[in-house]
Amino acid sequence: MVIKPAKRTNAIEYAVRDVVVVAKQAAAAGKELLYLNIGDPNQFDFMTPLHMVEAVSQAMLANNNGYSPSDGIPDAVEAIRRQAQRNGIAEPRHVFVTTGASEAIEIALTALAEPGDNVLTPSPGYPLYTAVLAKLNVQNNPYYLDEENGWQPDVDDIAKKIDDRTRAIVIINPNNPTGSVASKETLTRLCELAIERNIVVFADEIYDKLLLGDARHHSIGALSDDLCCMTFNGLSKSYLVPGFRIGWGIASGPQKQLAGYIEAMQKITRARLCASHPMQYAIVPALEGPQDHLDDVRARLTRRRDLTVEQLNAIPGISCVPPQGAFYAFPRLALGVADKVFNEGLIREHGVVCVHGSGFGQKPGTEHIRVVFLPPEEILARAYRAIGEYAARYHG
Ligand code: PLP
Repeated sequence: MVIKPAKRTNAIEYAVRDVVVVAKQAAAAGKELLYLNIGDPNQFDFMTPLHMVEAVSQAMLANNNGYSPSDGIPDAVEAIRRQAQRNGIAEPRHVFVTTGASEAIEIALTALAEPGDNVLTPSPGYPLYTAVLAKLNVQNNPYYLDEENGWQPDVDDIAKKIDDRTRAIVIINPNNPTGSVASKETLTRLCELAIERNIVVFADEIYDKLLLGDARHHSIGALSDDLCCMTFNGLSKSYLVPGFRIGWGIASGPQKQLAGYIEAMQKITRARLCASHPMQYAIVPALEGPQDHLDDVRARLTRRRDLTVEQLNAIPGISCVPPQGAFYAFPRLALGVADKVFNEGLIREHGVVCVHGSGFGQKPGTEHIRVVFLPPEEILARAYRAIGEYAARYHG
């Protein structure tokens, strides 16, 4: 008899890895592939700072290979708390270390929302949220980012979509897949709305140190002591160790309002024992050790962003809002073809692997692809030439 999988898996889609199936077929057919689909800096010319690797090896040699406390090793928790305070979150109420920011997000959602509740998530946005919500039987309630306004969250759209079952508003800042950085004005409006409607804000700030050019980042959790806020971050992106799987969650806001919620999150963290113990030893050296790799990463990414925007905007039928952070661009296609069809053709015919915009959510009637501009300039230039050639067949 066939083993029937649970229905809750039906709605789970993760376009970033789903395109790999098509890419593998193209590779088997002899295509050389240019990967612009995965946000993993270590697949390109970005190396983990050595002092973090040394700290982890020393921890392993010192036999710190057993379980750790469920919330994380105390030194790491304290370093995260200090980092949050440097970002303006005066009083972090609870800090817990997790298997990537992904696990912190899953724990925070699991402890908060009941089946039938809904959570506002950005569209476009990172598909982890919709996957976790599907698993929890919680409704995804997408709100739009405004492409005409540099992909800022549309606070009026958020206000319209809040109902009495809305439990959280997710903001990804800087955003994946658009690279937009929310302005202080947008964040202030969002913060006021969340306080007024008694809704928790989930601030995913995993790219907060990867700012391009002179972009500035503000943590929404720092804007008001009255905001119930979960801030998520981790080592994966800014510290070039996505494979370490180290992230964290920070709860801030009025203690009275948060106490029960924090206890619920702690029950879950205890039940899953702990994040990787030796890897947690990278947290203090990352957050409080030398930061010089960041200047170099930002300079390289800024050059790659500039090349991306210039070359994509030169292609008839493609327009690209300049990203301000992270390493993603989300160019719009006005080519009279669905983005999934365009993306698949691009992989099969030119070996350029991007991700179709519909995998992240977008306004009906619009089409996009997501480009990861982590690869070196010569690879990017080749990829954009191929995108231009392929687009010409639709545009012409
Ligand atoms: N949040 C966003 C917006 C991301 O883009 C990613 C990874 O791409 C994550 C969270 C996952 O981060 P982690 O590796 O810490 O689980």
